[in-house]
Amino acid sequence: MISLGIEGTAHSIAIGIVENKDNACIVLSNMIKTFHPESGGIHPREAANHHAKYVADVIKDSMKKAEIDFKDIDLVSFSQGPGLGPCLRTAATAARTLSLQLEKPIMGVNHCVAHLEIGRGTIDSCDDPVLLYTSGANTQVIAFAEGKYRVFGETLDIGIGNCLDKFGRTIGLPFPSGPVIEKYAKKGRKYLPLPYSIKGMDIAFSGLLTAAQQYYKNGETVEDVCYSIQETTFAALTEVTERAMAQLEKKEVLLGGGVAANQRLRGMVEEMAKERDARCFAPRIDLCIDNGAMIAWLGLVMYQSGIRMMLEDTGIDQRFRTDMVDVSWR
Ligand code: AMP
Ligand code: MG
Repeated sequence: MISLGIEGTAHSIAIGIVENKDNACIVLSNMIKTFHPESGGIHPREAANHHAKYVADVIKDSMKKAEIDFKDIDLVSFSQGPGLGPCLRTAATAARTLSLQLEKPIMGVNHCVAHLEIGRGTIDSCDDPVLLYTSGANTQVIAFAEGKYRVFGETLDIGIGNCLDKFGRTIGLPFPSGPVIEKYAKKGRKYLPLPYSIKGMDIAFSGLLTAAQQYYKNGETVEDVCYSIQETTFAALTEVTERAMAQLEKKEVLLGGGVAANQRLRGMVEEMAKERDARCFAPRIDLCIDNGAMIAWLGLVMYQSGIRMMLEDTGIDQRFRTDMVDVSWR
């Protein structure tokens, strides 16, 4: 069975095409077009306009890369939420149009759950992980328990990627700033103490962001500030992930989301896993960031488990929580 997935929760419009071979996910193509604001953060309407402009081109590119014909597609999947309303609506409209035109079923999926399932689908030995999901808007520690993917810890204010991007904006870096901050951080030498706020299993980053901006204004080097931001935020994320693993007695940890591209974050989580005798997995970078293949794959898994969606069920949900999904396929 072949599924085409449309991702459009925020900054990117992405189309992935995947196939199921013995319950493993084969990625036939995974193309992406990202919106880069000229200044400031992502304006939902501007991002949606970008997605509307490029969605057809990205579909064509992805089809070409996959070397398939439209008649080969068995299912159209799309990101139903959570995300920015106008962006979600654009992706959903494209998905409905394609589904009607091809006369193929449609499946709306939860974006956060897709980050987890793509790890299980593409990494052979990854079966029951705790997911540390670190992206622009979302930061959550998710694991399967009693029929649902439950959130064991999450950010109370801004996502880790958002925190990095906002700091980047302070010092004049383009969006996304995470990769540039990583480069600076490698040259940092002095650790500047920053608020380390874990509340129960949840995390808050905005106080840390303000303090980091203050250090920069007061003349600390950009390298040292970036280094300190990374050390502090990543340690907090690793700590919450470890507590979830301990409580749930899970022996696998999976990284997902754009910030999972960061070598220092990977290193910290790998070290923690090693100390607990657990295994650490990270999907390929193009499957870590927001992408269409993960949407295509989750849609396919849901469809093959017997779930069906009518056109009238395909309304978007900006606040689609991870734990609202009935995980009947596990
Ligand atoms: P996503 O929303 O999952 O697509 O992830 C986008 C976020 O990942 C943005 O906030 C980026 O700044 C961040 N990001 C991407 N690469 C890196 C990196 N190497 N280190 C830290 N953050 C990164
Ligand atoms: Mg994401």
